[in-house]
Amino acid sequence: MNILVYALHYEGAFNKNSLGAVAEAARLAGELGSEAHAVVIGDCPDDLAASLGGYGASKVFRAKDAPEGLAQPVIDVMASVMDEGGHGYALFGGGLLGFEIGAGLAARLNAGVTMEVTSVSAADGKLTAERPIHGDSSISTSQYKDRGIIIARLNAFDVPVAGEDTATVEDVSVQLSPWSTQATMVTRGEARGAEVDIEGADVLVAGGRGLGKAEGFELCEALAEALGGAVAATRAVVDAGWYPYSTQIGQTGKTVAPKLYLAAGISGAIQHKVGMQASEHIVAINKDQNAPIFEYSDLGIVGDLNKILPKLTEAVKAKKA
Ligand SMILES: Cc1cc2nc3c(=O)[nH]c(=O)nc-3n(C[C@H](O)[C@H](O)[C@H](O)COP(=O)(O)OP(=O)(O)OC[C@H]3O[C@@H](n4cnc5c(N)ncnc54)[C@H](O)[C@@H]3O)c2cc1C
Repeated sequence: MNILVYALHYEGAFNKNSLGAVAEAARLAGELGSEAHAVVIGDCPDDLAASLGGYGASKVFRAKDAPEGLAQPVIDVMASVMDEGGHGYALFGGGLLGFEIGAGLAARLNAGVTMEVTSVSAADGKLTAERPIHGDSSISTSQYKDRGIIIARLNAFDVPVAGEDTATVEDVSVQLSPWSTQATMVTRGEARGAEVDIEGADVLVAGGRGLGKAEGFELCEALAEALGGAVAATRAVVDAGWYPYSTQIGQTGKTVAPKLYLAAGISGAIQHKVGMQASEHIVAINKDQNAPIFEYSDLGIVGDLNKILPKLTEAVKAKKA
């Protein structure tokens, strides 16, 4: 029952959630008495692919001819590798691409699938996945009859410091399905401003309805820039058209776990909380001392964000200077 992990790479480095998934697969494989393997797609140099050994992968399957960054070709490759290699599980570190590939792979292999997983354990030669349900108030556990596809919630797995080991790299040639070649990657790049990758940011400055109007987000942007972070938002403000949907955190938005989550003018509704409660440090600014967000903040500042945010930005800039 070997475990296969998809390791996404971009500009010569692996995505940190992929590395967390490789390390987690290695830990679980150790308990199952099996091996953790990885799949890399496209132009991935030998040393980069082999470096996954430092996170515990014993073998890396590389599909040089498939395009990286699109779901369908990866599904073709992983399905083929799992069929030929007899892998019992596929593990993903989360993220939109991971969700799309994992769901497609489960359909292709007729395997069980669990998404938003926060913990995986091994016992009696099988894996059990746990995922929070009902607004994170309960945990559901899943086991798999045959093969299992486990897709983690973003940042669910820690990324250890890389070891010295290197993995064997095996090139595989997979015939892509006709539909997998219909889409082509036009360009890949790092988005800036409102479109920045909020799931990967270490610092998020999130704004809510308390900002008063769309222009209020300029206060969040200035602080995020000073802190080297990104801007996020509540559903109330994205629904109002103040900020893009891609920045929405919560039950119907993205799940994040930055080192610092600073919430400005956010009440802290349960639907928002489930998307950010795993943040390492939560700081909230709200003029209402009874706002629910203070119940789960590490630091609460009761006051007017229009006064506090600019002062905070100035202080951060002064400190950095
Ligand atoms: C099915 C469903 C799914 C949902 N999914 C999501 C989701 O994914 N993400 C999400 O965020 N929400 C979601 N919601 C909506 C959620 O219930 C809340 O309505 C929303 O999170 C509230 O957003 P808010 O905190 O920006 O606004 P509000 O609740 O209106 O809070 C604004 C806060 O700003 C404070 N404030 C006002 N002026 C100032 C000032 N000058 N200085 C400081 N503080 C100030 C107020 O005291 C208040 O606490 C969902 C709801 C449902 C029913």
